[in-house]
Amino acid sequence: MYRFYINKIENDYHYGELARVFLPDDEFEVIPLDVSSRNLALRPGSFLVNAKGSADRDEIKRELFGLLADLCGRSSEWGTLTGVRPLKLAYEMLAEAESDSDSCTDKTGGSDPSNPINPIKGMCALLAERYLISPSKIALLREIAEYQISCGMGDPSSKAGVYIGIPFCPTRCEYCAFASNVAGRDEIAEYLTNLLTEIRYMGRLVREHGTVIESIYIGGGTPTTLEADQLKQLIETAADELGADPRSIEFTVEAGRPDTITADKLAVMRELGVSRISINPQSMKDETLRAIGRDHTADDIRSGYRLAADYGFDVINADLIAGLPGEDLEDFRASLEEIISLGANNITVHTLSVKKGSRLRENDPEYYRRNTETVQSMVDYARERLSKEGFVPYYIYRQKHQMGALENVGYCRPGKHSIYNIRIMEEKQTIIGLGAGAIGKVYFPDEDRLERVANVSNYRVYSDRFDEMLSRKDLYY
Ligand code: SF4
Repeated sequence: MYRFYINKIENDYHYGELARVFLPDDEFEVIPLDVSSRNLALRPGSFLVNAKGSADRDEIKRELFGLLADLCGRSSEWGTLTGVRPLKLAYEMLAEAESDSDSCTDKTGGSDPSNPINPIKGMCALLAERYLISPSKIALLREIAEYQISCGMGDPSSKAGVYIGIPFCPTRCEYCAFASNVAGRDEIAEYLTNLLTEIRYMGRLVREHGTVIESIYIGGGTPTTLEADQLKQLIETAADELGADPRSIEFTVEAGRPDTITADKLAVMRELGVSRISINPQSMKDETLRAIGRDHTADDIRSGYRLAADYGFDVINADLIAGLPGEDLEDFRASLEEIISLGANNITVHTLSVKKGSRLRENDPEYYRRNTETVQSMVDYARERLSKEGFVPYYIYRQKHQMGALENVGYCRPGKHSIYNIRIMEEKQTIIGLGAGAIGKVYFPDEDRLERVANVSNYRVYSDRFDEMLSRKDLYY
């Protein structure tokens, strides 16, 4: 057991998160301390951090990071950064570098009007110096930031996004920690009735306040567990009530599990103008699909893609996971190759996250600490291969308990990015959440602050407490 006594801190949370990147929970303790002496008598395995009493959290984290890296004999690509939105931080550094550049003042306080700092380079330097992020991850952030800036998407706060949750799936995946359930037809029908009422209620508020909807994302769960007529009702209601015609805004429907895709559901979506779907293989290896609790084969995925191509969807996203049980680099490589050849023009490469609430976590809580080098090689391979194929990385986020403390990256063919995905990570737009498990966020531009408006995640509780779910919608205004 290592004990890190950290001087002059009020809250141990950030330091505990950093130690967790290197060590299991039961192998360390972070203990706040308040001393002025550097000469404490410490037992072996105990360390004093921040002996000089700095009040700069980043500086203390850098010292702790160095200590952890020495103790464990390895580093971490994301340096001291434990937050889930690295790009948001990159933009903060960009703003800081821009302000340095505007005043033509370098970071040491010197002034050189003839040699202003390039803001992007300034951003990269700050990410390296302040957070010890590796050159490769800084290059990734830079590429994403440059792509997003080149898209010129305008002021995010002038519009709102909408998330609609369908918390049902044909089976539950081993790693799943989402609001996802296997339910009967009657329960799904009852849920849909309530959901449509919630959409209408929100629609009235949206109209009254003149809110403009920029994007709608129907996710879950697996929305295509709904029958074609139910899907039609849902899309039409969302479009009519929220003033969001799928032909004129970004409108995405997750068709994640190929065993829920049928020609009549695809036909309904296309007829109503939906042009973006996700078909999420995670792996193209049958053995893996069985091991993670899926009830379909790689052939079902191939058929799903062929069918979707016949219906002419403009964007098809495919999720892949690096680090699935039993997979090596060759398995991952083969899955990625096949997904590219099936025609996905949006590919999201996830690193497996072993989250609370998943069966994988219950059965093997430390799974995510193993095989991290293999997972690293998968993520690196994906980046190189997709770049050669003409894809660009366009959004990024991290999760807790992710293998190798790595990241999830969304790649797209240029122009095929998802505005919704960018906005949700940017955290500068109101996202209206509808349905069980939906977590909406109200954005206050003057304070650059978000406030959560969450629905309950259990679909039965959602129905039981439906009046309360409706009244929570008033919190958006
Ligand atoms: S498809 Fe997604 S939401 Fe459904 S069980 Fe699997 S991980 Fe969970």
